[in-house]
Amino acid sequence: MWLVVLGFLSAPAPAPPAPPRALIAEAEAISASDPERAAALLEKAAIAAGADGALRLEALSARCWLLAVVSPSEAIRTAEAAMAEARRLHLERSIVDLRVCRGYAHERSDRLDDAARDYQFGVEEGARLSEPKATAMALVLRGELRHGRGLYGPALEDLVAAHRLEVQLGRRPKQSYALNAIANVYADRNVGDYARALEYYRQLLATHLADGRAAEAATAHFNIGSTLETIGELGAALDAYKASRKISVELHASSEIAYVDRSIGILLTRMGRAAAALVPLRNALAAFRAADDHDMVAATRLSLGVTFSRLGRLDAALAELRAAQAHYEAPPNDRFLDRIYEELAVVEATQGNWRAAHEAQGRLLETRRRLAESLQAEHTARLRVQFDSEKKEQENRALLQERALREQALRDAERISRWQQVSIGLGVAVLALLAHAVRRQARETGRMRDLAMTDALTRLANRRHFLALAEQAFDSARRLGAAFSVIVFDIDHFKRVNDTLGHEAGDKVLQRVAAAGRAALRPHDRMGRIGGEEFAVLLPVTRLAEATAIAERLRGTVAGHEFDDLAPGTRVSSSFGVAEWRREDSTLAALVRRADAALYRAKAGGRDRVEVEEPAGPGA
Ligand code: GH3
Ligand code: MG
Ligand code: MG
Repeated sequence: MWLVVLGFLSAPAPAPPAPPRALIAEAEAISASDPERAAALLEKAAIAAGADGALRLEALSARCWLLAVVSPSEAIRTAEAAMAEARRLHLERSIVDLRVCRGYAHERSDRLDDAARDYQFGVEEGARLSEPKATAMALVLRGELRHGRGLYGPALEDLVAAHRLEVQLGRRPKQSYALNAIANVYADRNVGDYARALEYYRQLLATHLADGRAAEAATAHFNIGSTLETIGELGAALDAYKASRKISVELHASSEIAYVDRSIGILLTRMGRAAAALVPLRNALAAFRAADDHDMVAATRLSLGVTFSRLGRLDAALAELRAAQAHYEAPPNDRFLDRIYEELAVVEATQGNWRAAHEAQGRLLETRRRLAESLQAEHTARLRVQFDSEKKEQENRALLQERALREQALRDAERISRWQQVSIGLGVAVLALLAHAVRRQARETGRMRDLAMTDALTRLANRRHFLALAEQAFDSARRLGAAFSVIVFDIDHFKRVNDTLGHEAGDKVLQRVAAAGRAALRPHDRMGRIGGEEFAVLLPVTRLAEATAIAERLRGTVAGHEFDDLAPGTRVSSSFGVAEWRREDSTLAALVRRADAALYRAKAGGRDRVEVEEPAGPGA
């Protein structure tokens, strides 16, 4: 995620060759290649600065940012000693910068509460002292931290404010950095505003291409691919991954290639092209092995196991899954184990190893129970999602106009911020691909949520999750009066499909109805599988007439879908019920009951039709 600021490392240093300045300049030049020596040089520079307090603190601040990545504990010691000096000298601006640096070091050592407190200080003091650069830095770091903690609304507020500041400061790479962080929030499954995320990623891609920042362009392609994959546009996702891969090959970025190869392999398997997935997955595995990245080796072996299983190569699947299992059981990592046990149970059962299949099932249930518990905690965070960034953007604009950006402050901040870039750049150099690691983390987290909320057969929201989404819509309708509607539908005579074509074909019909239905909806409509062959759609900010038209369109889509490969001439129809939220609904159930009653009338009236709820009675 830090990739976009790398370009800053080459900023020219305006240092006059006084000894401490020369030392600082030299340290900056070697900071990426030899951070240890650079840190030592900065220590010397601080001593050489002697009585020049401001210069001394500049060297110490640079040292802190440099160490925040390679040695966070030392960075914290440096920051605290320097803050004590800054306080004695009443250098308030230095204190802000040092606090934010200390926060970053805390974050790098997983002390997130401490990091949050330091960023908070940076935001408040930066604003009070009219330090736009320090404020923007603290805002962007706090925004990403909040995102990681599931505080999506506040995260967007911070990131949008940081972006505004960077626009005003005219710093393009930092604007891109903030915009990328904003897009990441929108692409988060809990926010799910994929259209907007894609728009921003594409904007970033165009900027990076125009500026000749190839590595960042590769990252943008990757993010576009991952978002497209999430919304089920698999072909387009594959193209984006391939574009990312092409650039990484040109850059000889072997680790980047391995990550994108793994993604391509997973995607191909998902697209039903398991045979083609083997090559990229094996390439990725070889690269992760060469890099001694044990986590990624295990993750890739899991993907290979799933692919072998799809190909019917069960022995090979078992070997890969068992290897992944061994890695993720000690210490246990439920997010991966869930997927492993699920696949193991299927493979063992297919081979007739009932005892092993049973054991995997048992472990799967246990893992799911633990996942459900941790999900409960996340639910609270999710409720805080607010989509009010537009409004906040306006407020921020007003705020910024009030606050004049003082010339002197800008110049002072310039030097310090170069060191922030160095530190951030090092995050990439030293940890190699933090961007991918973070994205990987986000995707793993996404997968975990996915499993607990998603119906395994159709990939739609499961009943529980759909009802939770509907409850949220219901709450906000009550608070804000925003209309919403619900469609429920049930496949007609589905038993006959099972009876004549078999249960497996029945499953395929369900999958395709789900996919066709979802494709016929607008991006923000949510479809769920709420029963065996019963589905529901949540239509935010939609009145009854529009909802009815959408239901009619869905009906046509499903009825027109051809299942000729299952048996020539196979078609299925469905019956639909539509209802709109009413102010007098005291519970969500009341609304769902009206939609169900309408569905029942559609069935009774001959099926393959849409029925609308009864109009409100008198006195309602
Ligand atoms: P109606 O038009 O009245 O809805 O008739 P129907 O046959 O669709 O209704 P009914 O509720 O009697 O039967 C639904 C069938 O759906 C029964 C059940 O076996 C089948 N079913 C439920 N879940 C699944 C599933 O996951 N896969 C398959 N293949 N069939 C399923
Ligand atoms: Mg039915
Ligand atoms: Mg039914």
